[in-house]
Amino acid sequence: MQSDGVKSPSIPFLVAVLRLSIRWLLSVGHDFAFETLPGHTDFTPFLQLQLAHEFRIREWVEPAFRSLVKQPLEIISASQATQMGDIPYYVLSQTKCLIDNHLRCISFTAPPVQSAFPCDSPEMCEDAWNRAWWTGFAKHVLHPDCPLSGSEAMRVLDNVQIPGMCDDCLRSTVDSVWEAGPFEEIELIIRDGIGQVVEWATGEDVKNAYLEAQEMQMQMYMI
Ligand SMILES: [Zn+2]
Repeated sequence: MQSDGVKSPSIPFLVAVLRLSIRWLLSVGHDFAFETLPGHTDFTPFLQLQLAHEFRIREWVEPAFRSLVKQPLEIISASQATQMGDIPYYVLSQTKCLIDNHLRCISFTAPPVQSAFPCDSPEMCEDAWNRAWWTGFAKHVLHPDCPLSGSEAMRVLDNVQIPGMCDDCLRSTVDSVWEAGPFEEIELIIRDGIGQVVEWATGEDVKNAYLEAQEMQMQMYMI
């Protein structure tokens, strides 16, 4: 496409190739642009969603949406929100709000202590666990500048000793938190958001597929 072989094609050039290739059914140009754009350093998730909608490219919705979920909502400019589209921006805002609410709910109340047998001082273990949950988990998740994800914060409590809590109680309590899978809900929230944006981008009715994924996951927990 370019003779120097060094300079990578520009985004406008690749988008033009994609647009013309789709219009004139040119598979070589289409494949070149389709494969080159996602790896381009200037290819933003906002443009990816715009093009996903324009050309009904289902595969581009998920990477763009997941990338945006990791970003703070407040750094998205008005022009970026316009570029990605009002429906994806709404779904993204709602998704991030649901995730925040879920994490606040988890953080607010420490999971119950699973007392090991025999434990000489279950009340002390419970007090120590409640304190550790707030200082070791909740403060990391709710940190205003650099919050950890639920799983990252939970790992802070993995392999540590909590003063005042016996090792057996700590181990069985941490294990029970992981087994309950409180952070899997976040993945389901994100998948639901992706499903809504895929519907917007492609016109496909995909909601059932995501609901089925949720049901399968719930069944796995029940086994
Ligand atoms: Zn104990």
